[in-house]
Amino acid sequence: MKLTTNAPRPSLENQRFQVIVIGGGINGVAIARECARTGRHTLLVEQDDFGSGTTSRSTRIIHGGLRYLEHGELGLVRDSLRERKKLLRHYPHLVHPLRFLLALDENSRRNALKIRTGLWLYRMMAGGRHGTSGDKEDAEKVERSLDQGRRWSLFSYQDAQCEFPERLVAEWLVEAVESGVIARNHTQVLAVDVRQGRAKGIFIRDRLSGKEERVEGSWVINATGPWADRICQRSSIRTQRPMLGGVRGSHIVLPRFAGVPDSAVYSEAVDGRPIFVIPWNQQILVGTTEAEDRGDPGKVQPSLEEIDYLLQSFATLFPQANFSGTDIRYAFAGIRPLPYAPNARLSGVTRKHYLHDHKADGAAGMISAIGGKLTTAAQLARECAAKIGASMQKSPRINGDRAEGLSAASDLIQSPLGMIASDVDPVLDSFVADIANAGGISESSASGIVEWHGKRSGAIARMALSSADLRAPLCPHTEHIVAEAVDAFANECAMTLGDILLRRVPVALGACWSPECTREAAAVLKPVMGWSNQQAADEIEAFEAEREGFLRKPS
Ligand SMILES: Cc1cc2nc3c(=O)[nH]c(=O)nc-3n(C[C@H](O)[C@H](O)[C@H](O)COP(=O)(O)OP(=O)(O)OC[C@H]3O[C@@H](n4cnc5c(N)ncnc54)[C@H](O)[C@@H]3O)c2cc1C
Repeated sequence: MKLTTNAPRPSLENQRFQVIVIGGGINGVAIARECARTGRHTLLVEQDDFGSGTTSRSTRIIHGGLRYLEHGELGLVRDSLRERKKLLRHYPHLVHPLRFLLALDENSRRNALKIRTGLWLYRMMAGGRHGTSGDKEDAEKVERSLDQGRRWSLFSYQDAQCEFPERLVAEWLVEAVESGVIARNHTQVLAVDVRQGRAKGIFIRDRLSGKEERVEGSWVINATGPWADRICQRSSIRTQRPMLGGVRGSHIVLPRFAGVPDSAVYSEAVDGRPIFVIPWNQQILVGTTEAEDRGDPGKVQPSLEEIDYLLQSFATLFPQANFSGTDIRYAFAGIRPLPYAPNARLSGVTRKHYLHDHKADGAAGMISAIGGKLTTAAQLARECAAKIGASMQKSPRINGDRAEGLSAASDLIQSPLGMIASDVDPVLDSFVADIANAGGISESSASGIVEWHGKRSGAIARMALSSADLRAPLCPHTEHIVAEAVDAFANECAMTLGDILLRRVPVALGACWSPECTREAAAVLKPVMGWSNQQAADEIEAFEAEREGFLRKPS
């Protein structure tokens, strides 16, 4: 089997769409999927890769937003909890429950009674589940690993985690394409074509071929997250005031240490701000910061002060870990696309999204989606589709292709009816065993495939069975295999090595990754992709530049 990423993509020149969505982060992909499901001929255009913007720079929690209760945003909490429940049901391989322990010491400004009341309300709004098994053991473990010189109060609650929102985006993208979306990554919108007070289409440049084209659209949706004001500026659309206030948030990634808690810890940083210490991808994710940032969101980097602040805060919580700057695997940052609120405290700006209609700005037919969270992207998409009159005529097609020949477990994983999270584990286990059999691969490889590729696992396993090259691991330290990458090139719009290793099969976010791993991955992909030596070298160079720009190893 040979694939090539060189084949020119069909021209879009002068094609007409009912809906054009600019921006392929979680919101843009969700909006395109929603519009296509209602029968609208939809184009989705992304300047880099799907999910490469803010979506892959977040804390990766699927949460109701306990913190928003402090700001009295009950509606936002209710919506988020409802969306969290749906994600847990429909995407159990990607979104799983995670226990959080709120750890406060005797100096905390937060009042214990208020916290208990807040947590009670949060649980009630989530459906009224109280403690879960293991709460006590986990709390004891966390207490042992926290600074022993302080008196801790621990409060337990449940939220959820999507370790790889990049994969959620890829899965929604496949669903969008199955519903008819034409999806173009590595294609930049140069400007929206606005004439006689109406958005008529867009001017685009394919960044892989350099080709420029004009495409027509009845509706243009600006879903570019923190780039939203820039799209308007490029198109000479004047909004009364900026739509966004850029707030940078940074994270550091640390190795696991002896006594590391299995739960996420939510506590206070050195300045009393909230901080998360979260088990993630066999490492520890620590975040986040809040710093005003009006720079190019594509070039955002964590500052050394932020990295230091996160490390210091971590060290005051877990001194036994004894980490220094050299232990930081990498740091990354993103710009929160928060609504413009010039006089508000950064932490107090609402996380609720809104839709801005540009009719009054002289661009009827154009809507900007502002703000939001990973958790509420599907809701934002429904609201956006409703705003442009795209109503659901038939029930959503959650199921795409079926893993034929595999057990009923795969049907359950794909089931739009879903199941409660605690029912999922045995079903996943039996599905993993089926995938291992179907692909002639180890159970640990199969487990990794199921976790990342859900309902596509059957197709990947069948492909893997056909050749040893396709069963080869992408690097010597991972169980993830070449067939996953090939499937992503063929079915998930991956175009570059970076699209694969950072997002579709995101092994390069793992603990092992090094330039040596990149060379290994390119070497095993080269024969199946039909790359020349020069192409493989170019892919490696572009990948290293992208990784360097995204994941910063502090000096
Ligand atoms: C530090 C931090 C932590 C967060 N933590 C969480 C969390 O734990 N849970 C949660 O639910 N939410 C969290 N969020 C919020 C969440 O990540 C964002 O709300 C969400 O990812 C925004 O998605 P988006 O699609 O709007 O934007 P993006 O993901 O940024 O997508 C916009 C896309 O538009 C593209 N684009 C821009 N200009 C153009 C152009 N000219 N042509 C074509 N394409 C263009 C960009 O390349 C980009 O891919 C966090 C955010 C940050 C910054």
